Amino acid sequence: MIDVINPATDELITQLAEPESGQVAAAFARAQAAQRQWRATPYAERAACVARFAELVEKHTADLGLTTTREMGKPISQAEGEVRALQGRISFFLEHTEAELGDEQLLSADQGGTAERIRHEPLGVVGNISAWNYPYFVGGNVFLPALLTGNAVLYKPSELASMTGQYLGRLLHEAGIPKDVFQVLVGGPSVGQALLEQPLGAMFFTGSNPTGAKIASALAPRMIRFALELGGKDPVYLADDIDLEHAAENMAEGAFYNTGQSCCAVERIYVHQSRYAGFLDAFVAATRKLELGDPEDRETFIGPLARRAAAIRDLQEQVDEAKQRGGRILLGGERASRSGHYYQPTIIADAPQGSLIMQAESFGPIIGVRPVKDDAEAVRLMNDTKYGLTASVYSRDEARALKILEEVDAGTGYFNCCDRVSPRLPWTGRRGSGIGCTLSTYGIEAFLRPKALHLRPAGW
Ligand code: NAD
Repeated sequence: MIDVINPATDELITQLAEPESGQVAAAFARAQAAQRQWRATPYAERAACVARFAELVEKHTADLGLTTTREMGKPISQAEGEVRALQGRISFFLEHTEAELGDEQLLSADQGGTAERIRHEPLGVVGNISAWNYPYFVGGNVFLPALLTGNAVLYKPSELASMTGQYLGRLLHEAGIPKDVFQVLVGGPSVGQALLEQPLGAMFFTGSNPTGAKIASALAPRMIRFALELGGKDPVYLADDIDLEHAAENMAEGAFYNTGQSCCAVERIYVHQSRYAGFLDAFVAATRKLELGDPEDRETFIGPLARRAAAIRDLQEQVDEAKQRGGRILLGGERASRSGHYYQPTIIADAPQGSLIMQAESFGPIIGVRPVKDDAEAVRLMNDTKYGLTASVYSRDEARALKILEEVDAGTGYFNCCDRVSPRLPWTGRRGSGIGCTLSTYGIEAFLRPKALHLRPAGW
């Protein structure tokens, strides 16, 4: 059984039964049989199911949001915002999937005697092990294009977002997706491991870098393809020509939205030395305005931490280490004085580049800031990380920012914005942030594999 606990109150919401490994194998067998029919189902029917799912999500927005808020602590306005924004992804996939499915005729028989054609086939049964921080986005980025392209999906939501995962499953089934084509397997690491043992067509994983490494080493020897969307230590560089107020407000939002538990949250800030002192004052002032409190209250911006005591322990370790190494705490620095698992929004100035807060993913409402002398130093420090998810530059000069972003080894570059994902653009990490891609047309192709057809007419 897994306990579903509200991180704001420590109340036990429910207990859910985890499947045993034999049940996971049985789920795989059912999915494999069902996928044969699903891939043969006309695209228009598959798309109609997903369109009905969109309508149901819209109807259930408030309940879905509250479910997520209760089980993982996301402030209700942000939880509902995520549910609403799922619509944009559904529309994108509905608009762009069909074009990826047809055969490509490269040569016809009357051109060379042998016709050459590429067929795009689904992968089969796709495993999807997911994170809890954006359950609608990280789940939907995988299961929506996977289903539209004719795959079956075994979806293991995070144990911290199990009720949300089950809710999504009910809505997909109500929308007409056959029960065996989309199956939800709730549970923790042991259920994930049982899923990895199946002869999957592919595994799409979203989670931390250490778990991603385990997934890769389990699947690579068996030649099962995998995509990994992992953590980040996303840097921002504020150049000497920034608008201070705009940058400070953006940094407060980028660092503390979803209580800092976003894969592309701002995790490190480098400021041109000429604007450093002014920025620190403006940043502290902007952060003080963010309301910490009950996640079910619409005014709340910073809620409790989904990983509860473990998250608070990890954050405190980073803060204490930065302090010992000369970092200056300008705001926060300890857990909030209220019941539930809350940490104060924390800003540490002069954070040493080698400290944990500048190197290890924080995944909470704490942030390190340090000055740099010029663009070259900014580029060097931005790249000084094992991760490569996103990077951001604030300046009035787009050409200068693009030049800096060209030198930063990350899958996404932002100019005067941060912590942003678009269904139209590929979502992809480099180095320790992962392998593969979701969203955009790349994130549709990822669920298809090519078959090369050489077709010589009979009697030729
Ligand atoms: P996690 O690695 O602890 O868990 C992720 C999933 O893996 C969960 O479903 C968990 O049950 C499962 N799991 C854990 N151990 C396993 C094992 N040995 N075998 C199989 N499955 C296993 O990560 P998390 O705490 O759920 O999520 C937070 C992390 O996810 C952060 O690092 C964050 O940056 C990252 N993330 C990345 C993206 C992205 O798009 N790049 C998006 C969201 C979250």
